[in-house]
Amino acid sequence: MRSLPPPLRDLRVALVALALLLPLLLGVERPRGLGDVADVRTWSHPDYTRVVIELTRPVDAEVVRLKADDRNARPERLYIDLDGIWVGRDYADGIPVEDGLLRKLRLGQNTLRRSRLVIDLERYERHRLLVLESPHRVVVDVYGSRQDPETLEWQLPGGVQSPDKKRFPAGMRPVRTVVVDPGHGGKDPGATGIGGVREKDVNLRLSKLLAKRLREEGFEVILTRDDDRYLDLEQRTVIAESQGADLFISIHANASRRRSTKGIEIYYLDENHDRHALDVASRENGVPRKKIDSLQRTLAKWRVQELSGESERLAEAVHGELLPGLGKTYRGVQDLGVKKGPFYVLFLSSIPSILVESGFVTNPHDVKLLGEHRYLERTAQHIAAGVIRYREHGLKLAGGGP
Ligand SMILES: [Zn+2]
Repeated sequence: MRSLPPPLRDLRVALVALALLLPLLLGVERPRGLGDVADVRTWSHPDYTRVVIELTRPVDAEVVRLKADDRNARPERLYIDLDGIWVGRDYADGIPVEDGLLRKLRLGQNTLRRSRLVIDLERYERHRLLVLESPHRVVVDVYGSRQDPETLEWQLPGGVQSPDKKRFPAGMRPVRTVVVDPGHGGKDPGATGIGGVREKDVNLRLSKLLAKRLREEGFEVILTRDDDRYLDLEQRTVIAESQGADLFISIHANASRRRSTKGIEIYYLDENHDRHALDVASRENGVPRKKIDSLQRTLAKWRVQELSGESERLAEAVHGELLPGLGKTYRGVQDLGVKKGPFYVLFLSSIPSILVESGFVTNPHDVKLLGEHRYLERTAQHIAAGVIRYREHGLKLAGGGP
């Protein structure tokens, strides 16, 4: 076949391109069976910006990093392909962030059956990615030192402003603000125990008593919820941390198929675990055991062990006060020790964090105690004593104490 003269060839290229683009331009029928983007949220935290894409179906996600392209005036950016997700032109204008770390988000239809999230960066050191369920969502945290952090007002949900706080490494800064996180809530009851006892109710009662006790000891306390409501895991961590918290304590109650299993255990984040820890993590994460593999791979990649020293110290301090303290008054409180486990809520937190399993609602002995106000008050008192022990050690490290 004879080749076309250049002007016609250009025309043909243009026509082919138009034919390919036309369906998108005209708003083509979306293919069947695709999911939607339900929501896009960002939070600017002093140390990182969190991007959350909520979806109506599960996806596998991977972050790809692209260097700045000066020729085309493109900044450094990250992108994530969302297979089986339809956005059409819903986010055609992009979502400005402009917090000194991220410029904007762009979310568009990459192919008929795939959307792409692009994060245009101002600064970048590293990122982390989590894919969560109920609801399905992709969480990307982008870390970096911001441009002009002095003049930036942190963007928080509801227009709350974050106190200006110098960020020392964890363990070197004084502990002033503690986040107390009552696990589960609302549509998520957590474990259900003997007599229909719901974990979410036990968690809330104990957390409120712990908050009260810590306030009496001079700490600022942020409760992630103070009533029976549902919260996403990333909401629990980021809202509280955005207000400059120093420690994160998630309060839970345990469950087991064996009625005889009882006792208290305290977890900090680690990719290593024993079999029992995996059962607990599966329940607390709200995902099947096999799904925890991806979290463990993420944790291993992040070498969490090296980062978890402060959390381990907090866990040991609380354990060292709580078990002997309760043991003075209550016989038969079993010490299941300090353990490592792959917990999403601990991974999403960037400050020293522990998860306290205060007893088994499936055990007759434990559930009776957890129903007693005095027992919960004592538990709160001894956990608070553990936080004080942790704080005092930190002050010594920082040279501010005796
Ligand atoms: Zn729980």
